[in-house]
Amino acid sequence: MFDKKSYTLYKFHKQINQSFQDKRELLECALPALRDLFKLDRVYFFDWQQERAILSLKMMCKKEYCMDMQEDISVANEPAFLRQLLQQGVAETTDLSYPALYVLIRWLRPSMELKAGEVHSFMREKVGVLRLERFRKNRVFTDAEIDLIKDLGAEISHNLHNTEIDQAKNQRLSVSTALNDLSTIFASSLRLNDGLELILKGVQRYFHFDRVHLYLTNSDGTRIKSVLGVDISGQVTHESGDSLREEEKQILKEVFDSSATYRAKRSVIYLPLKVQRTKVGFLTFDNILSRRKIGYLDFISLQQFATQMALTIDNARLFERVQELSNYDELTKLPVRRYFNEKFAEEIYRAKRFGLSLSLIIMDIDWFKQINDKHGHQIGDWALKAVSKIIRSSLRQTDVPCRFGGDEMMIMLPRTNSEEAKVIARRLKERISEVVLPDRNAVEPEHLSISQGISSFPADGATANELLEKADQALYVVKQHGRGDFAVYREVADQIHPTEEKDPSQRPLP
Ligand code: GH3
Ligand code: MG
Repeated sequence: MFDKKSYTLYKFHKQINQSFQDKRELLECALPALRDLFKLDRVYFFDWQQERAILSLKMMCKKEYCMDMQEDISVANEPAFLRQLLQQGVAETTDLSYPALYVLIRWLRPSMELKAGEVHSFMREKVGVLRLERFRKNRVFTDAEIDLIKDLGAEISHNLHNTEIDQAKNQRLSVSTALNDLSTIFASSLRLNDGLELILKGVQRYFHFDRVHLYLTNSDGTRIKSVLGVDISGQVTHESGDSLREEEKQILKEVFDSSATYRAKRSVIYLPLKVQRTKVGFLTFDNILSRRKIGYLDFISLQQFATQMALTIDNARLFERVQELSNYDELTKLPVRRYFNEKFAEEIYRAKRFGLSLSLIIMDIDWFKQINDKHGHQIGDWALKAVSKIIRSSLRQTDVPCRFGGDEMMIMLPRTNSEEAKVIARRLKERISEVVLPDRNAVEPEHLSISQGISSFPADGATANELLEKADQALYVVKQHGRGDFAVYREVADQIHPTEEKDPSQRPLP
Protein backbone atom coordinates (compact mmCIF):
# COMPACT_ATOMS: atom_id res chain seq x y z
CA MET A 1 0.00 0.00 0.00
CA PHE A 2 1.27 3.44 -0.86
CA ASP A 3 2.07 5.36 2.32
CA LYS A 4 1.75 9.04 1.53
CA LYS A 5 3.50 10.18 4.69
CA SER A 6 6.56 7.98 4.14
CA TYR A 7 6.76 9.12 0.57
CA THR A 8 6.62 12.80 1.58
CA LEU A 9 9.31 12.23 4.17
CA TYR A 10 11.45 10.44 1.62
CA LYS A 11 11.09 13.27 -0.88
CA PHE A 12 11.89 15.88 1.74
CA HIS A 13 14.88 13.88 2.86
CA LYS A 14 16.20 13.73 -0.69
CA GLN A 15 15.64 17.42 -1.17
CA ILE A 16 17.55 18.63 1.84
CA ASN A 17 20.07 15.87 2.28
CA GLN A 18 22.90 17.65 0.51
CA SER A 19 26.22 19.04 1.58
CA PHE A 20 25.60 22.63 2.61
CA GLN A 21 28.23 25.27 3.30
CA ASP A 22 26.46 26.54 6.38
CA LYS A 23 23.19 26.68 8.27
CA ARG A 24 21.91 29.55 6.19
CA GLU A 25 22.28 27.62 2.96
CA LEU A 26 20.49 24.66 4.47
CA LEU A 27 17.58 26.80 5.68
CA GLU A 28 17.32 28.42 2.26
CA CYS A 29 16.61 24.95 0.91
CA ALA A 30 14.50 23.51 3.75
CA LEU A 31 12.15 26.41 4.39
CA PRO A 32 10.82 26.72 0.83
CA ALA A 33 10.39 22.95 0.75
CA LEU A 34 8.20 23.15 3.86
CA ARG A 35 6.34 26.12 2.42
CA ASP A 36 5.46 24.18 -0.71
CA LEU A 37 4.54 20.99 1.11
CA PHE A 38 2.12 22.59 3.51
CA LYS A 39 0.97 25.44 1.31
CA LEU A 40 2.30 27.94 3.81
CA ASP A 41 2.11 31.67 3.37
CA ARG A 42 5.19 32.29 5.48
CA VAL A 43 7.72 30.19 7.30
CA TYR A 44 10.27 31.49 9.82
CA PHE A 45 13.34 30.14 11.51
CA PHE A 46 14.41 31.35 14.96
CA ASP A 47 17.34 30.58 17.25
CA TRP A 48 16.12 29.82 20.72
CA GLN A 49 17.91 31.58 23.55
CA GLN A 50 16.82 29.47 26.46
CA GLU A 51 18.13 31.54 29.36
CA ARG A 52 16.57 34.76 28.12
CA ALA A 53 13.42 33.12 26.71
CA ILE A 54 14.01 34.87 23.44
CA LEU A 55 13.33 33.72 19.93
CA SER A 56 15.77 35.47 17.64
CA LEU A 57 14.63 35.54 14.09
CA LYS A 58 17.16 34.45 11.47
CA MET A 59 15.26 33.81 8.25
CA MET A 60 11.83 34.25 6.77
CA CYS A 61 10.46 32.68 3.58
CA LYS A 62 7.43 33.96 1.77
CA LYS A 63 5.86 32.68 -1.36
CA GLU A 64 8.51 34.05 -3.72
CA TYR A 65 11.70 34.36 -1.72
CA CYS A 66 13.63 33.88 1.52
CA MET A 67 15.36 36.65 3.40
CA ASP A 68 17.72 36.96 6.35
CA MET A 69 16.08 38.77 9.23
CA GLN A 70 17.12 39.83 12.68
CA GLU A 71 14.62 40.43 15.39
CA ASP A 72 14.36 39.26 18.98
CA ILE A 73 10.97 38.20 20.22
CA SER A 74 10.52 37.64 23.93
CA VAL A 75 8.26 34.77 24.92
CA ALA A 76 8.89 35.07 28.63
CA ASN A 77 5.29 36.07 29.24
CA GLU A 78 3.81 33.02 27.63
CA PRO A 79 4.63 30.16 30.00
CA ALA A 80 1.83 27.88 28.83
CA PHE A 81 2.93 28.22 25.22
CA LEU A 82 6.54 27.63 26.15
CA ARG A 83 5.81 24.57 28.24
CA GLN A 84 3.86 23.04 25.43
CA LEU A 85 6.56 23.82 22.87
CA LEU A 86 9.33 22.37 24.99
CA GLN A 87 7.41 19.30 26.12
CA GLN A 88 5.60 18.33 22.94
CA GLY A 89 7.92 19.82 20.33
CA VAL A 90 5.08 21.76 18.73
CA ALA A 91 2.74 24.51 19.88
CA GLU A 92 0.05 26.58 18.26
CA THR A 93 -0.38 30.24 19.00
CA THR A 94 -3.65 31.50 20.33
CA ASP A 95 -3.08 35.21 20.09
CA LEU A 96 -3.15 35.44 16.30
CA SER A 97 -6.24 35.53 14.12
CA TYR A 98 -4.80 32.89 11.82
CA PRO A 99 -3.18 29.49 12.32
CA ALA A 100 0.52 29.59 13.21
CA LEU A 101 2.41 26.52 14.32
CA TYR A 102 5.74 26.49 16.19
CA VAL A 103 8.03 23.49 15.83
CA LEU A 104 11.02 22.87 18.07
CA ILE A 105 14.28 21.75 16.45
CA ARG A 106 17.25 20.50 18.46
CA TRP A 107 20.64 19.58 17.09
CA LEU A 108 24.22 19.23 18.28
CA ARG A 109 26.99 21.47 17.08
CA PRO A 110 30.75 21.05 17.63
CA SER A 111 32.23 23.33 20.24
CA MET A 112 35.59 23.87 21.88
CA GLU A 113 37.01 25.39 24.97
CA LEU A 114 40.41 25.85 26.54
CA LYS A 115 41.11 24.66 30.07
CA ALA A 116 44.58 24.92 31.57
CA GLY A 117 46.09 25.24 28.15
CA GLU A 118 44.34 22.12 26.87
CA VAL A 119 41.77 22.20 24.14
CA HIS A 120 38.57 20.28 24.78
CA SER A 121 36.13 19.67 22.00
CA PHE A 122 32.59 18.67 22.76
CA MET A 123 29.09 18.94 21.32
CA ARG A 124 26.75 21.65 22.46
CA GLU A 125 22.99 21.48 22.01
CA LYS A 126 21.50 24.16 19.84
CA VAL A 127 17.79 24.80 19.70
CA GLY A 128 15.85 26.42 16.92
CA VAL A 129 12.19 27.08 16.33
CA LEU A 130 10.20 27.03 13.09
CA ARG A 131 7.04 29.08 12.72
CA LEU A 132 4.66 28.05 10.02
CA GLU A 133 1.91 30.46 9.04
CA ARG A 134 -1.17 30.01 6.94
CA PHE A 135 -3.14 33.23 7.04
CA ARG A 136 -4.71 33.56 3.61
CA LYS A 137 -7.10 30.67 3.57
CA ASN A 138 -7.02 30.39 7.31
CA ARG A 139 -6.63 26.62 7.19
CA VAL A 140 -5.79 25.06 10.53
CA PHE A 141 -3.08 22.43 10.81
CA THR A 142 -4.55 18.96 11.00
CA ASP A 143 -3.19 16.36 13.41
CA ALA A 144 -1.74 14.40 10.51
CA GLU A 145 0.01 17.53 9.28
CA ILE A 146 1.41 18.29 12.73
CA ASP A 147 2.64 14.73 12.97
CA LEU A 148 4.38 15.03 9.62
CA ILE A 149 5.85 18.43 10.45
CA LYS A 150 7.44 16.99 13.59
CA ASP A 151 9.14 14.31 11.52
CA LEU A 152 10.32 16.83 8.97
CA GLY A 153 11.68 18.95 11.83
CA ALA A 154 13.72 15.96 12.96
CA GLU A 155 15.08 15.62 9.43
CA ILE A 156 16.10 19.28 9.48
CA SER A 157 17.84 18.91 12.82
CA HIS A 158 19.77 15.92 11.53
CA ASN A 159 20.96 18.00 8.59
CA LEU A 160 21.81 20.99 10.74
CA HIS A 161 24.02 18.75 12.82
CA ASN A 162 25.88 17.40 9.78
CA THR A 163 26.22 20.80 8.22
CA GLU A 164 27.79 22.31 11.30
CA ILE A 165 30.25 19.44 11.62
CA ASP A 166 31.21 19.82 7.96
CA GLN A 167 31.56 23.53 8.40
CA ALA A 168 33.89 23.16 11.36
CA LYS A 169 35.96 20.60 9.48
CA ASN A 170 36.23 22.74 6.37
CA GLN A 171 37.18 25.76 8.33
CA ARG A 172 39.97 23.94 10.09
CA LEU A 173 41.15 22.42 6.86
CA SER A 174 41.34 25.72 5.04
CA VAL A 175 43.11 27.37 7.96
CA SER A 176 45.69 24.64 8.26
CA THR A 177 46.25 24.69 4.49
CA ALA A 178 46.82 28.43 4.63
CA LEU A 179 49.19 28.15 7.57
CA ASN A 180 51.03 25.31 5.89
CA ASP A 181 51.51 27.39 2.76
CA LEU A 182 52.83 30.21 4.88
CA SER A 183 55.23 27.91 6.71
CA THR A 184 56.57 26.66 3.38
CA ILE A 185 57.26 30.20 2.25
CA PHE A 186 58.89 30.85 5.59
CA ALA A 187 61.14 27.81 5.36
CA SER A 188 62.30 28.75 1.88
CA SER A 189 63.20 32.36 2.61
CA LEU A 190 66.90 32.85 3.07
CA ARG A 191 66.99 35.35 5.87
CA LEU A 192 65.10 34.89 9.09
CA ASN A 193 63.72 38.42 9.15
CA ASP A 194 62.45 38.30 5.56
CA GLY A 195 60.68 35.04 6.31
CA LEU A 196 59.10 36.42 9.46
CA GLU A 197 57.79 39.48 7.65
CA LEU A 198 56.23 37.31 4.96
CA ILE A 199 54.55 35.04 7.40
CA LEU A 200 53.17 37.79 9.63
CA LYS A 201 51.76 39.59 6.63
CA GLY A 202 50.19 36.35 5.44
CA VAL A 203 48.57 35.60 8.79
CA GLN A 204 47.28 39.17 9.13
CA ARG A 205 45.76 39.07 5.66
CA TYR A 206 44.35 35.58 5.87
CA PHE A 207 42.67 35.94 9.25
CA HIS A 208 41.83 39.63 8.78
CA PHE A 209 43.37 40.60 12.07
CA ASP A 210 43.72 44.27 12.85
CA ARG A 211 47.27 43.74 14.02
CA VAL A 212 49.81 40.99 14.41
CA HIS A 213 52.95 41.36 16.50
CA LEU A 214 55.94 39.11 16.94
CA TYR A 215 58.14 39.73 19.96
CA LEU A 216 61.53 38.06 19.69
CA THR A 217 63.79 37.44 22.65
CA ASN A 218 67.56 37.54 22.88
CA SER A 219 69.40 34.25 22.64
CA ASP A 220 68.83 33.15 26.24
CA GLY A 221 65.19 34.22 26.27
CA THR A 222 65.51 36.74 29.09
CA ARG A 223 64.79 39.98 27.24
CA ILE A 224 62.66 41.16 24.33
CA LYS A 225 65.14 42.04 21.62
CA SER A 226 62.91 43.20 18.80
CA VAL A 227 59.29 43.62 17.83
CA LEU A 228 58.01 42.99 14.34
CA GLY A 229 54.49 44.15 13.60
CA VAL A 230 51.97 44.19 10.76
CA ASP A 231 49.13 46.68 11.03
CA ILE A 232 45.66 46.75 9.51
CA SER A 233 46.94 48.14 6.20
CA GLY A 234 49.57 45.39 5.89
CA GLN A 235 52.35 47.84 6.78
CA VAL A 236 55.36 46.26 8.50
CA THR A 237 56.93 47.92 11.55
CA HIS A 238 60.22 47.15 13.27
CA GLU A 239 60.92 48.22 16.81
CA SER A 240 63.69 47.54 19.24
CA GLY A 241 62.70 45.76 22.46
CA ASP A 242 64.17 48.70 24.37
CA SER A 243 61.45 51.02 23.13
CA LEU A 244 58.70 49.04 24.91
CA ARG A 245 56.98 50.89 27.73
CA GLU A 246 57.34 49.54 31.24
CA GLU A 247 53.68 48.53 31.60
CA GLU A 248 53.81 46.88 28.21
CA LYS A 249 56.81 44.86 29.34
CA GLN A 250 54.91 43.78 32.44
CA ILE A 251 51.93 42.48 30.44
CA LEU A 252 54.29 40.72 28.10
CA LYS A 253 56.10 39.07 30.95
CA GLU A 254 52.82 37.71 32.29
CA VAL A 255 51.86 36.39 28.89
CA PHE A 256 55.26 34.92 28.46
CA ASP A 257 55.13 32.95 31.65
CA SER A 258 51.63 31.67 31.04
CA SER A 259 50.34 29.41 28.34
CA ALA A 260 48.44 30.45 25.23
CA THR A 261 45.69 32.91 26.06
CA TYR A 262 42.47 33.61 24.26
CA ARG A 263 40.67 36.72 25.34
CA ALA A 264 37.44 36.59 23.41
CA LYS A 265 36.00 39.73 24.95
CA ARG A 266 38.94 41.87 24.07
CA SER A 267 39.55 40.01 20.81
CA VAL A 268 43.19 39.28 21.57
CA ILE A 269 45.24 36.12 21.28
CA TYR A 270 48.61 35.72 23.00
CA LEU A 271 50.78 32.81 21.99
CA PRO A 272 54.13 32.15 23.66
CA LEU A 273 56.74 30.68 21.34
CA LYS A 274 58.73 28.08 23.22
CA VAL A 275 61.05 25.27 22.27
CA GLN A 276 61.28 22.93 25.21
CA ARG A 277 62.09 25.39 27.97
CA THR A 278 63.64 28.10 25.85
CA LYS A 279 61.51 31.13 25.19
CA VAL A 280 61.91 32.17 21.61
CA GLY A 281 59.38 34.97 21.71
CA PHE A 282 55.65 35.35 21.41
CA LEU A 283 52.92 36.36 19.05
CA THR A 284 49.92 38.58 19.59
CA PHE A 285 46.94 38.85 17.28
CA ASP A 286 44.25 41.40 17.89
CA ASN A 287 41.09 42.98 16.57
CA ILE A 288 41.13 45.71 19.18
CA LEU A 289 40.31 48.46 16.69
CA SER A 290 37.51 46.77 14.77
CA ARG A 291 36.29 44.81 17.81
CA ARG A 292 35.56 41.82 15.62
CA LYS A 293 35.49 38.60 17.57
CA ILE A 294 38.33 36.19 16.94
CA GLY A 295 36.97 32.70 16.34
CA TYR A 296 37.92 29.95 18.70
CA LEU A 297 38.87 27.63 15.86
CA ASP A 298 41.28 30.28 14.58
CA PHE A 299 42.85 30.34 17.99
CA ILE A 300 43.38 26.60 17.99
CA SER A 301 44.89 26.61 14.51
CA LEU A 302 47.21 29.46 15.41
CA GLN A 303 48.29 27.61 18.49
CA GLN A 304 49.47 24.66 16.40
CA PHE A 305 51.09 27.06 14.00
CA ALA A 306 52.98 28.76 16.86
CA THR A 307 54.66 25.49 17.78
CA GLN A 308 55.92 25.13 14.24
CA MET A 309 56.99 28.75 14.11
CA ALA A 310 58.93 28.52 17.39
CA LEU A 311 60.87 25.55 16.02
CA THR A 312 61.67 27.30 12.76
CA ILE A 313 62.84 30.46 14.50
CA ASP A 314 64.95 28.46 16.90
CA ASN A 315 66.52 26.51 14.04
CA ALA A 316 67.26 29.64 12.06
CA ARG A 317 68.89 31.20 15.09
CA LEU A 318 70.99 28.13 15.70
CA PHE A 319 72.12 28.22 12.10
CA GLU A 320 73.09 31.89 12.40
CA ARG A 321 74.96 31.20 15.60
CA VAL A 322 76.89 28.29 14.10
CA GLN A 323 77.84 30.46 11.17
CA GLU A 324 78.98 33.17 13.50
CA LEU A 325 80.91 30.75 15.68
CA SER A 326 82.75 29.29 12.71
CA ASN A 327 84.19 32.74 12.08
CA TYR A 328 85.90 32.75 15.46
CA ASP A 329 88.78 30.84 16.93
CA GLU A 330 87.72 28.73 19.87
CA LEU A 331 90.68 29.48 22.16
CA THR A 332 91.31 33.16 21.59
CA LYS A 333 87.83 34.21 20.42
CA LEU A 334 89.52 36.16 17.65
CA PRO A 335 88.25 35.90 14.07
CA VAL A 336 89.83 33.14 12.01
CA ARG A 337 91.96 33.55 8.93
CA ARG A 338 89.15 32.95 6.41
CA TYR A 339 87.05 35.69 7.91
CA PHE A 340 90.06 37.99 8.14
CA ASN A 341 91.00 37.42 4.49
CA GLU A 342 87.50 38.38 3.36
CA LYS A 343 87.55 41.59 5.38
CA PHE A 344 91.10 42.35 4.28
CA ALA A 345 90.14 42.08 0.60
CA GLU A 346 87.14 44.35 1.15
CA GLU A 347 89.21 46.97 2.94
CA ILE A 348 91.94 46.97 0.32
CA TYR A 349 89.31 47.51 -2.33
CA ARG A 350 87.87 50.40 -0.34
CA ALA A 351 91.30 51.90 0.29
CA LYS A 352 92.07 51.78 -3.42
CA ARG A 353 88.70 53.09 -4.45
CA PHE A 354 88.69 56.04 -2.07
CA GLY A 355 92.41 56.64 -1.75
CA LEU A 356 92.56 55.69 1.93
CA SER A 357 95.47 54.41 3.95
CA LEU A 358 95.53 50.96 5.55
CA SER A 359 98.07 49.17 7.69
CA LEU A 360 98.73 45.61 8.70
CA ILE A 361 100.46 44.33 11.80
CA ILE A 362 101.72 40.76 12.13
CA MET A 363 102.46 39.83 15.70
CA ASP A 364 104.22 36.75 17.01
CA ILE A 365 104.79 35.79 20.63
CA ASP A 366 108.47 35.52 21.50
CA TRP A 367 109.88 32.22 22.71
CA PHE A 368 106.48 30.71 22.79
CA LYS A 369 107.76 27.20 22.31
CA GLN A 370 109.82 27.66 25.44
CA ILE A 371 106.81 28.85 27.39
CA ASN A 372 105.02 25.66 26.41
CA ASP A 373 107.99 23.50 27.20
CA LYS A 374 108.81 25.12 30.49
CA HIS A 375 105.37 25.84 31.94
CA GLY A 376 103.17 23.42 30.06
CA HIS A 377 100.60 23.79 27.30
CA GLN A 378 97.94 25.08 29.65
CA ILE A 379 100.00 28.11 30.55
CA GLY A 380 100.80 28.47 26.85
CA ASP A 381 97.07 28.58 26.14
CA TRP A 382 96.59 31.04 28.94
CA ALA A 383 99.23 33.32 27.37
CA LEU A 384 97.49 33.13 24.00
CA LYS A 385 94.23 34.14 25.61
CA ALA A 386 95.85 36.98 27.56
CA VAL A 387 97.45 38.38 24.42
CA SER A 388 94.17 38.13 22.47
CA LYS A 389 92.29 39.89 25.20
CA ILE A 390 94.72 42.79 25.11
CA ILE A 391 94.47 42.93 21.32
CA ARG A 392 90.69 43.04 21.43
CA SER A 393 90.61 45.75 24.04
CA SER A 394 93.25 47.90 22.36
CA LEU A 395 91.62 48.30 18.95
CA ARG A 396 88.92 50.41 17.34
CA GLN A 397 85.62 48.89 16.20
CA THR A 398 86.69 49.02 12.57
CA ASP A 399 90.03 47.27 13.13
CA VAL A 400 90.04 43.55 12.41
CA PRO A 401 92.28 41.24 14.43
CA CYS A 402 92.68 37.55 13.70
CA ARG A 403 94.48 34.48 14.92
CA PHE A 404 96.49 33.64 11.88
CA GLY A 405 97.67 30.38 13.38
CA GLY A 406 99.82 29.15 16.30
CA ASP A 407 101.13 32.13 18.22
CA GLU A 408 100.79 34.45 15.27
CA MET A 409 98.13 37.21 15.20
CA MET A 410 97.26 39.61 12.46
CA ILE A 411 95.70 43.03 12.85
CA MET A 412 94.26 45.02 9.97
CA LEU A 413 93.91 48.73 10.59
CA PRO A 414 91.74 50.53 8.01
CA ARG A 415 92.35 54.28 7.47
CA THR A 416 95.63 54.02 9.37
CA ASN A 417 99.04 55.03 8.04
CA SER A 418 102.31 53.50 9.23
CA GLU A 419 102.92 56.20 11.85
CA GLU A 420 99.54 55.59 13.42
CA ALA A 421 100.11 51.85 13.18
CA LYS A 422 103.34 52.27 15.14
CA VAL A 423 101.41 53.98 17.94
CA ILE A 424 99.15 50.94 18.15
CA ALA A 425 102.08 48.51 17.95
CA ARG A 426 103.79 50.36 20.79
CA ARG A 427 100.65 50.25 22.88
CA LEU A 428 100.30 46.50 22.30
CA LYS A 429 103.94 45.88 23.06
CA GLU A 430 103.70 47.77 26.36
CA ARG A 431 100.48 46.22 27.50
CA ILE A 432 101.52 42.69 26.63
CA SER A 433 104.93 43.10 28.27
CA GLU A 434 103.13 43.71 31.54
CA VAL A 435 101.58 40.24 31.47
CA VAL A 436 103.17 37.84 33.94
CA LEU A 437 102.78 34.11 33.42
CA PRO A 438 100.72 32.54 36.20
CA ASP A 439 103.13 29.76 37.10
CA ARG A 440 103.24 29.24 40.86
CA ASN A 441 106.45 27.26 40.56
CA ALA A 442 108.32 30.02 38.76
CA VAL A 443 111.27 31.41 40.71
CA GLU A 444 110.80 34.94 39.39
CA PRO A 445 108.00 36.60 37.41
CA GLU A 446 108.19 35.83 33.73
CA HIS A 447 106.80 38.49 31.40
CA LEU A 448 105.37 37.98 27.94
CA SER A 449 107.03 39.56 24.96
CA ILE A 450 105.93 40.02 21.36
CA SER A 451 107.49 41.01 18.08
CA GLN A 452 105.57 42.89 15.39
CA GLY A 453 106.03 43.66 11.72
CA ILE A 454 104.09 46.44 10.01
CA SER A 455 103.28 47.15 6.37
CA SER A 456 101.13 49.93 4.96
CA PHE A 457 99.04 50.51 1.88
CA PRO A 458 99.93 51.87 -0.60
CA ALA A 459 103.63 52.43 0.16
CA ASP A 460 104.56 48.80 0.94
CA GLY A 461 102.23 46.97 -1.39
CA ALA A 462 99.04 47.16 -3.43
CA THR A 463 97.61 43.69 -2.76
CA ALA A 464 96.75 41.64 0.30
CA ASN A 465 99.54 39.16 -0.44
CA GLU A 466 102.16 41.85 -0.89
CA LEU A 467 101.20 43.53 2.35
CA LEU A 468 101.27 40.21 4.22
CA GLU A 469 104.63 39.36 2.78
CA LYS A 470 106.13 42.75 3.69
CA ALA A 471 104.78 42.76 7.23
CA ASP A 472 106.15 39.24 7.67
CA GLN A 473 109.58 40.35 6.48
CA ALA A 474 109.53 43.26 8.90
CA LEU A 475 108.63 40.84 11.71
CA TYR A 476 111.52 38.64 10.69
CA VAL A 477 113.92 41.54 11.04
CA VAL A 478 112.61 42.23 14.55
CA LYS A 479 113.08 38.58 15.48
CA GLN A 480 116.56 38.69 14.06
CA HIS A 481 117.40 41.71 16.18
CA GLY A 482 116.52 40.16 19.47
CA ARG A 483 112.67 40.29 19.54
CA GLY A 484 110.33 42.32 21.79
CA ASP A 485 109.99 45.21 19.36
CA PHE A 486 108.22 46.29 16.16
CA ALA A 487 109.27 47.57 12.73
CA VAL A 488 107.70 49.08 9.64
CA TYR A 489 108.74 47.31 6.46
CA ARG A 490 109.97 50.45 4.68
CA GLU A 491 112.16 51.38 7.56
CA VAL A 492 113.97 48.04 7.69
CA ALA A 493 113.75 47.05 4.01
CA ASP A 494 117.47 47.53 3.54
CA GLN A 495 118.15 44.82 6.11
CA ILE A 496 116.18 42.25 4.18
CA HIS A 497 118.15 40.29 1.66
CA PRO A 498 116.12 38.49 -0.94
CA THR A 499 118.49 35.52 -0.90
CA GLU A 500 118.26 35.10 2.83
CA GLU A 501 116.34 31.98 3.78
CA LYS A 502 114.25 31.99 6.86
CA ASP A 503 114.99 29.25 9.33
CA PRO A 504 111.87 27.09 9.15
CA SER A 505 112.29 25.83 12.69
CA GLN A 506 112.26 29.41 13.93
CA ARG A 507 109.20 30.56 12.00
CA PRO A 508 106.86 27.76 11.10
CA LEU A 509 104.08 28.89 8.81
CA PRO A 510 100.74 28.44 10.48
P1 GH3 B 1 109.87 32.98 18.19
O1 GH3 B 1 110.17 33.93 19.26
O2 GH3 B 1 110.88 32.89 17.14
O3 GH3 B 1 108.48 33.14 17.65
O4 GH3 B 1 109.91 31.58 18.91
P2 GH3 B 1 108.71 30.71 19.32
O5 GH3 B 1 109.14 29.73 20.36
O6 GH3 B 1 107.53 31.52 19.69
O7 GH3 B 1 108.51 29.95 18.01
P3 GH3 B 1 107.23 29.81 17.19
O8 GH3 B 1 106.54 31.11 17.06
O9 GH3 B 1 107.63 29.13 15.95
O10 GH3 B 1 106.43 28.83 18.12
C1 GH3 B 1 105.11 28.56 17.93
C2 GH3 B 1 104.73 27.55 18.96
O11 GH3 B 1 103.40 27.75 19.36
C3 GH3 B 1 104.78 26.16 18.41
C4 GH3 B 1 103.52 25.47 18.94
O12 GH3 B 1 103.87 24.36 19.73
C5 GH3 B 1 102.88 26.50 19.80
N1 GH3 B 1 101.47 26.54 19.65
C6 GH3 B 1 100.75 26.68 18.52
N2 GH3 B 1 99.42 26.72 18.77
C7 GH3 B 1 99.30 26.58 20.12
C8 GH3 B 1 98.20 26.54 21.01
O13 GH3 B 1 97.01 26.65 20.60
N3 GH3 B 1 98.42 26.43 22.33
C9 GH3 B 1 99.70 26.33 22.80
N4 GH3 B 1 99.85 26.20 24.12
N5 GH3 B 1 100.75 26.33 21.99
C10 GH3 B 1 100.58 26.47 20.67
MG1 MG C 1 106.56 32.73 18.32
